Amino acid sequence: MAIVAPQVRKHLSADALFHLVRSGFASLPDHRLDDIDISLPDALMSAFAMFSLKAPSLLAFDKERAEGNLRTIYGIARVPCDTQMRAILDPLSPKVLRPVFKSVFRQWQRGKALEPMTFLDGHYLLALDGTEYFSSKTIHCASCLHKVHRNGSITYFHQLLGAAIIHPDLRAVIPLMPEPIVRHDGTAKNDCERNATKRFVAKLRQDHPHLKFIVTEDSLSANAPHIETLHEYGLHYILGVKAGDHTYLFQQVQAAEHAGHVTAYERHDRAAGRVHRFRFLNDVSLNASNPDVRVNFIEYWEISDDKVQHFSWVTDLRVNTRNVFHLMRGGRARWKIENETFHTLKNQGYNFEHNYGHGEQNLSVVFAMLMMLAFLVDQAQQVCCALFQAVWAKLGSKRLLWERMRALFYTYALVSMRQLFEALFYGLQKPTPVFGVDST
Ligand SMILES: [Zn+2]
Repeated sequence: MAIVAPQVRKHLSADALFHLVRSGFASLPDHRLDDIDISLPDALMSAFAMFSLKAPSLLAFDKERAEGNLRTIYGIARVPCDTQMRAILDPLSPKVLRPVFKSVFRQWQRGKALEPMTFLDGHYLLALDGTEYFSSKTIHCASCLHKVHRNGSITYFHQLLGAAIIHPDLRAVIPLMPEPIVRHDGTAKNDCERNATKRFVAKLRQDHPHLKFIVTEDSLSANAPHIETLHEYGLHYILGVKAGDHTYLFQQVQAAEHAGHVTAYERHDRAAGRVHRFRFLNDVSLNASNPDVRVNFIEYWEISDDKVQHFSWVTDLRVNTRNVFHLMRGGRARWKIENETFHTLKNQGYNFEHNYGHGEQNLSVVFAMLMMLAFLVDQAQQVCCALFQAVWAKLGSKRLLWERMRALFYTYALVSMRQLFEALFYGLQKPTPVFGVDST
């Protein structure tokens, strides 16, 4: 039986996106005045290729020196050695990479590829969460956050605010450009997640003024100033709340319950042996000190034979028995930013917490951004490229997929990523060795 080649959405293929990323890098201004041996786009694209190939370290990437394929597939004219790469990228301001993220995202918007991610009435669910990806007692740079311990020792660390479009039914996520949580020039104070979120939403609206979002975050973000910020930028929300942190809110719900104003709702999923129990209340104050910040409250229990899971959220979307189940799924999908994004980056071959080189200024942040960019391109393959999906299904795991991909990339001269995936799918035609026959 003939094997039919799986179809690819051309503009979201690895080859098309590598080309797009490469031309995005080419339009960035080079901060260096002289001594330009390796071009900035070559240095950026080499780092991108390192994360795209999931090379375990900069040294390992440097050692392989698969220059032929780096040229044909990633468009790199000259590959820098590890020291050159670090030296070129360290002074680069990470914010210059924003247009590149935006241009890749625009490809998702083309040809309705983004549409399956729609969550509710044309809105996308956008999960935001902070994560730490580096910590050291000795290695540090100008943008490291500091924690001074009682004994005077210092821990240096890096965090970022990650953002991804998620959907409760879909495994893939679409990461947006993260907001670094860093020490800024000339300030002695640590930056924090709350400030990073503020900067993030302002830039989100600049980049995507018309996209409709429902932001979902954990209970740390369910505070009045943040809700006002979201409101100011025209963003809806589903935010976790906790009885311990939001005492006043839960007291009001309790009082409303006694007065008979709370709606109870239950859905039985007999096939799965689960009961979904809700109670909700619209238009209630978030806390005593901000009585004018009004929210809608949802409490939810998932009851199965052996366990009960309990969650609660506030949202600005008016809750009723028709939408409460869907809103709950949106609130619960928030874990995807931890599981499908940070966990994948840390444990599925991307080595997010590894030290590819820290630098003295921005290198650590620039690498984190480029890794997220490589992840964004991979997610496009996961969702839109049937060939990638077929290879993934055939090999059974991403880890094995990346391993096989690297092995081919480092061994054979290839013309495109498509050729590489086809080789992984169909198997390589190995030439039959020809032995000379000694007829004497
Ligand atoms: Zn640092």
